[in-house]
Amino acid sequence: NLSQRLQATVKRLRGQGRLTEENMRETLREVRMALLEADVAVPVVKAFVDRIRERALGQEVLTSLTPGQALVKIVHDELVALMGGANDALDLAARPPAVVLFAGLQGSGKTTTVAKLARRIREREGKSVLVTSADVYRPAAIEQLRKLAHAVGVEFHESRADQRPVDIARGAVEAARKRLLDVVLIDTAGRLHVDQAMMEEIKAVHAAIQPVETLFVVDSMAGQDAVNAAEAFNAALPLTGVVLTKADGDARGGAALSVRHVTGKPIKFLGVGEAPDALEPFHPERIASRILGMGDVLTLVEEAHRTADKQQAEKLAEKFRKGKGFDLEDFRDQLQQMQRMGGISSLLEKLPGVGELPAGARDQVNDAQMKRLVAIINSMTPRERRAPDVIKGSRKRRIAAGSGTQVQDVNRLLKQFDQMQRVMKQMRKGGGLQRMLAGMR
Ligand code: GDP
Ligand code: MG
Repeated sequence: NLSQRLQATVKRLRGQGRLTEENMRETLREVRMALLEADVAVPVVKAFVDRIRERALGQEVLTSLTPGQALVKIVHDELVALMGGANDALDLAARPPAVVLFAGLQGSGKTTTVAKLARRIREREGKSVLVTSADVYRPAAIEQLRKLAHAVGVEFHESRADQRPVDIARGAVEAARKRLLDVVLIDTAGRLHVDQAMMEEIKAVHAAIQPVETLFVVDSMAGQDAVNAAEAFNAALPLTGVVLTKADGDARGGAALSVRHVTGKPIKFLGVGEAPDALEPFHPERIASRILGMGDVLTLVEEAHRTADKQQAEKLAEKFRKGKGFDLEDFRDQLQQMQRMGGISSLLEKLPGVGELPAGARDQVNDAQMKRLVAIINSMTPRERRAPDVIKGSRKRRIAAGSGTQVQDVNRLLKQFDQMQRVMKQMRKGGGLQRMLAGMR
């Protein structure tokens, strides 16, 4: 599966200081496959991967990350950026009534979404909402919205199958104005496939009511149909946003990227079920992780970025480069950095390939021991930290007493530190966090 394959490439790339064509190739290939598997349209995949390659090339890799992880992080950030950063709310600040028009293919989830949004606007914003159905083609369409409106407790504006959609829409806006209601949501008809008559009709409705929001509703499972529909509706109407429905199904989120790519419009909400409360604001990071299908690796990378003191990492990197010694103060910094990252055990759980660590490694380096190690180092003088060789019998006793430990604890730390220094030397050539952890046993 994908995350296994990624783990393998991530491992292969461990310990290289800069992203190059060479060390990115495999990971990029996996990213391309992940996007295709997630149902992102082929031209979108290509454009995206090209852009990533360009952006990543030559970038330096934080010492806390491997090049593979660094690239995954770039891919993730770029996905999020492409999908429009933070989620956009609806703009209902217009002079009331604020009119919202819904467009999309039949079965995409328009009517359901009208009810969901009506409920949300009423409950979250305390606004009065009126809904109406301009779907005069499907026999039960008007009835469906009437029931839903009743269920979510909003006003329903009557319409009949022998009326023109434009007149229904105008009538609803007029009624809302007279009754001083805040928001009008207008449901429309869709066809199974894009056709000219449907486009002309929705354009006429749009022109008649001048909505503040024109939302394109699209089924996230619809694959290429979703992309085609997005292109057609975006060309016909000045869309202000997208609602991606059926995100609760097994769609892997690729539609989000494709639709965003072809329309350039923000995805504002996700439909995550049939019930009226199954609507969520869109969170690009969640979809990005879903598309990449490697949540745990991403969590690790993010935590590394959040907590790793960048300057400290750079300071260390500088030391490695110059071949200077790794001293006990650096060791302590590393330990504290790991503690800030949620402790070594949570770190280990998230690392790919942790099963390969020698048996017992996880237990031997537990969080309590890490705290003890830090305490011991704190009880040393600066000179002792820089040159641990001077720590002999009487110093050991003093340090043990000062840190509330035993002399054998101090001995163990010195031994571990000695091993650590050796691992650090290897890290300079190639290795990484996992190896470093293995070396701490
Ligand atoms: P419309 O033709 O565009 O108005 O689509 P409908 O609102 O009638 O929805 C079509 C079908 O999709 C209905 O069975 C809905 O219950 C279902 N549906 C709509 N949105 C979602 C969603 O977010 N998740 C799931 N699982 N089903 C949905
Ligand atoms: Mg409908």
